[in-house]
Amino acid sequence: MKVLVADDSEINLMLISLVLKEQGHQIITVTNGPEAIEVFKRHRPDLVIMDVVMEGMDGFECARTMRSIRREDWIPIIFLSNSVDDSSIAKGIDAGGDDYLTKPFSKITLIAKIKAMQRISDMRQRIYHTTKKLEVLSATDALTGIYNRFQFDKSIVEKLSVANRYHRQLALLFIDLDNFKIINDTFGHHIGDLLLKEVAARLKSCLRTEDFLARVGGDEFAVILSDIDNPLVAGVIAQKILDSLTPDYHLDENKIRISASIGIALYPSSETTQMTLIQNADVAMYHAKELGRNSYQYYSTNLNEKYKQHIHLEQALQFALEKNQFYLKYQPIMDLQNQQAVGLEALLCWDHPEYGAISPADFIPIAEETGLIVPIGYWIMRQACEHATEWDLKKLEGFKLSINISSHQLLQEDFYQNTVDILNDTHISPTLLEFEITETTEMDYASYTLRQTIKKLHDLGITISIDDFGTGYSSLTRLKDLAIDTLKIDQIFVQDAIKDYNAGIIVKNLINMCKELKIDIIAEGIETQEQLDFLLAHGCIHGQGYLLARPLFIEQVKGLLLSGRKE
Ligand code: C2E
Ligand code: CA
Ligand code: CA
Repeated sequence: MKVLVADDSEINLMLISLVLKEQGHQIITVTNGPEAIEVFKRHRPDLVIMDVVMEGMDGFECARTMRSIRREDWIPIIFLSNSVDDSSIAKGIDAGGDDYLTKPFSKITLIAKIKAMQRISDMRQRIYHTTKKLEVLSATDALTGIYNRFQFDKSIVEKLSVANRYHRQLALLFIDLDNFKIINDTFGHHIGDLLLKEVAARLKSCLRTEDFLARVGGDEFAVILSDIDNPLVAGVIAQKILDSLTPDYHLDENKIRISASIGIALYPSSETTQMTLIQNADVAMYHAKELGRNSYQYYSTNLNEKYKQHIHLEQALQFALEKNQFYLKYQPIMDLQNQQAVGLEALLCWDHPEYGAISPADFIPIAEETGLIVPIGYWIMRQACEHATEWDLKKLEGFKLSINISSHQLLQEDFYQNTVDILNDTHISPTLLEFEITETTEMDYASYTLRQTIKKLHDLGITISIDDFGTGYSSLTRLKDLAIDTLKIDQIFVQDAIKDYNAGIIVKNLINMCKELKIDIIAEGIETQEQLDFLLAHGCIHGQGYLLARPLFIEQVKGLLLSGRKE
């Protein structure tokens, strides 16, 4: 042990030093209070033995000063005194002392006291280090090593109160990975974990050391920028984060791509309290997601209404199935030349007792986000197959019943088997069905699993069509590996084809290419005669749209089948 001995009697110092050296301790001796404090600061002793009475500064005062210097670890102090009465013991303990030795003392007593102190000191050190470790652990996210939700909740309160006190501006960024669930489902949790680690590292590299970064949920991160002089800085950092997250991730021989959506809330700003800041960042993040992902958004008050609506829909959707609020409509798919129906596309409708009719464009994304699309999807498939049996569609040669399938459904391990079960239960031949799949980013990284499922369904006899072709991710070259039977050209393209020269060329080429590849084409959203004429002129065979037929209630379908087509 390193022992600091302070006594203004040289003889005492010598005696104590002798004993301590004999015991193998390292000694530093001083003869007055101020010197003792200096050494205490500089040399960090493990034990202090100090005379109560010294000239200038007495032992008690000296102990009090030492305690105020090193608060974090407790260094034992033993007082030396000529007479020990009750009041001086109390005074000594109050000043921060741990024990007393009355002069004169025997060598054995000194050694025993030091041993006892050493034991206590060791114990204190251990408790101190364990407490420190626990503090770090409880603040850290075990997977990524950055702060966790618990620390985020603590830090935001502290940082807001500092911002208040010093009139500083603070920005909170909520970062949510897009479609992370799909990656987890496709590649497994191990890869999901590796990805989160790498994301945390990339986020860290975008920030300064004084910025706060935490993982606050499965695939959610939060950043607090505590002192910004301009709100635009938050946007600049958000963009830097988005850019750093986009390059490919190479994880155990898998190449994965991911993007994120970021919501930004500023403090102070109108009506913002500590409580609402987090909610505002969340609202802004949802908005960023809605605007197409891989983007950031600042919070503004008018977003609140939208967000509330989103939450209401999400809650109502949980019960829509069991409360029988869904029904299907069917839009005929027509032969453009003879205007006879060659198929029906099932479209989901939701009639909510309070909110009225809600468009699938508004609630399907929520169903996908929450996973509700899976049970809802099976309900749709079963319902459509039952209708097909009822209408005896198998009698109509080449007729197709098209069902929209979300890629979330396709990623379910038992999707294929459940499909087979539904076909068996309803006595429907697989060749009657066409599955419409919208190409999304999910299809990209999930391509292997999806491709396998699509292939199995195709082998079973179900035809596969790519929905909304032309709106984003799709390209013919990328689709060539998939077992595709049909392309549905998105209505935007169909509508632009007659207005915009380039769109027209694209549609024309698409029709030609598909002919060569023996892929059927269905033009969507035909609303005018002009559009229909254009498509016919360029050899498009099939189409769908309000000009030809609107989505029909089930009661209307039978009539269409009877009148429009010879059975
Ligand atoms: P989608 O699969 O592209 O369906 C076509 C949408 O375009 C339908 O809207 C339909 O009513 C509408 N439409 C048809 N002809 C025209 C037209 O001439 N002009 C215009 N402006 N629109 C036309 P709906 O029913 O609102 O469905 C919107 C989207 O919701 C669908 O787009 C599909 O992505 C999704 N959806 C609908 N039903 C289902 C379903 O059962 N399952 C899944 N997973 N998604 C569905
Ligand atoms: Ca569709
Ligand atoms: Ca479509």
